[in-house]
Amino acid sequence: MRFLLVFSVAVLCLALYPPSTGAVEVKYSQDQYLSLVEKVVDQSVRPFISRLPIKQQQALEDVVVSVERQFSPNAMALSIDETTPKVLISHTFLQGVEAYIEAYLLSVALNNPILIEQYFSEYFWSHHPSSQGIEPYLPSKRWHVSGDEQLFLAQKSTLFEAVVLDILLHELGHHVKNAFYHHRANQYMIEASEKLADSWADHIKQVFLNRSESIGRLIVIGYIFEQDRWATLSDDHFYPRILPWVSSQLPALCEDAEFLSDKKFCRRLDQDIEDYYSSRIETAYLERLQRGDLFANFPLGQIELAKSNFVDACSYFNESFIYGQVARAAIYVGWCYQKGYLEPSPPDVQVLAMLHARGDGSYGLPRQNKISDRMLLSTGP
Ligand SMILES: [Zn+2]
Repeated sequence: MRFLLVFSVAVLCLALYPPSTGAVEVKYSQDQYLSLVEKVVDQSVRPFISRLPIKQQQALEDVVVSVERQFSPNAMALSIDETTPKVLISHTFLQGVEAYIEAYLLSVALNNPILIEQYFSEYFWSHHPSSQGIEPYLPSKRWHVSGDEQLFLAQKSTLFEAVVLDILLHELGHHVKNAFYHHRANQYMIEASEKLADSWADHIKQVFLNRSESIGRLIVIGYIFEQDRWATLSDDHFYPRILPWVSSQLPALCEDAEFLSDKKFCRRLDQDIEDYYSSRIETAYLERLQRGDLFANFPLGQIELAKSNFVDACSYFNESFIYGQVARAAIYVGWCYQKGYLEPSPPDVQVLAMLHARGDGSYGLPRQNKISDRMLLSTGP
């Protein structure tokens, strides 16, 4: 993945490598994803290293892989060439990818294509890196598939391992090909290095691992799509918009797709990018609303808000809060009432009558303004 090293700082190192004795060590830490990375290194990476040309073995000799929490929010993984060559993978990124894989599997199992967007609309908001958010909950905590839970977990592991393998192969490609660059390098340098890492990763997959599926890379692009869509609709400038860059790989990946799962994923992602990352976005959500998708009210509210159409925006936010089960719409609705873009509607007459009968007529009113019969009559139909 040529985008993986975008934000990294790579230090060029001319040190001579010692003869090969072992390769690619995974650094111990408490991180929850380390055992997954270790498994992929043990099962898929180490076995082919001894079959590589000696120079390549030497290049991977001292590489240490670790999962780190202290990453900028836009970075996924990076390679650093210093005395101890390193591959660092972002914990936050793996967390997002894990959630994406679950959401994707559940959306397929429940035949609910908007589940992924619904989940990430909440995820990126409540766990925003700029705030001290709580740890994200996984989609499987909210949606359940009836049937074989073991199968779900097995599918999840397969996809997660495919993502980690693609990341590792790409990053190791930087080390093997000595393809490093400074973060201020020009675009030509960056693209040339990324291409070298990618082509080495592809070569390894085909020759040594006998794998040609692209699902790992496609999942990463799918996750970035959700992040970019969220940031665009929320007018959030914390996450840089990197989708246009990473999605440029999509045609080539989809063209080469041999597996049905890859093809299906490609078709859906391609359509999503066309619908929701273009000038068609408003029409796409309006069409969804017409089909009865009440969640679509929320993004439509965001779109109208960006255009300063406050009355329309507030009406959409209100609908999404009441009918679309979008909890965070409450904040917008509160603001809308405060600004007068939404008018408080009188409480339902039956509720008032019930409160009155109980002698507790202070519903929404100060105690001294107890509801009178006249008021009840005046709110009647
Ligand atoms: Zn890279």
